[in-house]
Amino acid sequence: MSFSKAGLDHNEARTDEQKKLMAQIEADGVCPFCAEHFAKYHPKPILKETNNWFVTTNMSPYEGTTQHFLFVYKPIHTNNPSDVTPEASAELFSLVSEIVTEHNIPGGGFFMRFGEGGYNGSSVEHLHAQLVVGEQKSEETEGLKVKLGYKKK
Ligand SMILES: [Zn+2]
Repeated sequence: MSFSKAGLDHNEARTDEQKKLMAQIEADGVCPFCAEHFAKYHPKPILKETNNWFVTTNMSPYEGTTQHFLFVYKPIHTNNPSDVTPEASAELFSLVSEIVTEHNIPGGGFFMRFGEGGYNGSSVEHLHAQLVVGEQKSEETEGLKVKLGYKKK
């Protein structure tokens, strides 16, 4: 396993910017998505903040996406959805709805990786949801690829 003390999986870092930032986080030995560190390590503006969530954009949007938002859980360091309170769960869907409305998103995908990193393809082991938007389907498009787990080769 390649997990560091900070709970980062370097094999899942996709860009040089991300790899450099992860090396810095590793050196500092902290979780980059915990509330007390988030603003320091995340290079994108925080679009919304509630008691339970930060909403921002992904510093390394997935290839082919036109929009890529992150919803990072604030109250505690966890990667377990059962730690999310009912109030925070409801708030998450309200925030998704606000983002979809404010950014005129016609459709896309919304997902949350969770649990042990070796099972979910995440680069940060701190609960966060993602909203991705791609192009409209046409003869010139193909499906967006999002890793949510692993299969045998
Ligand atoms: Zn954390």
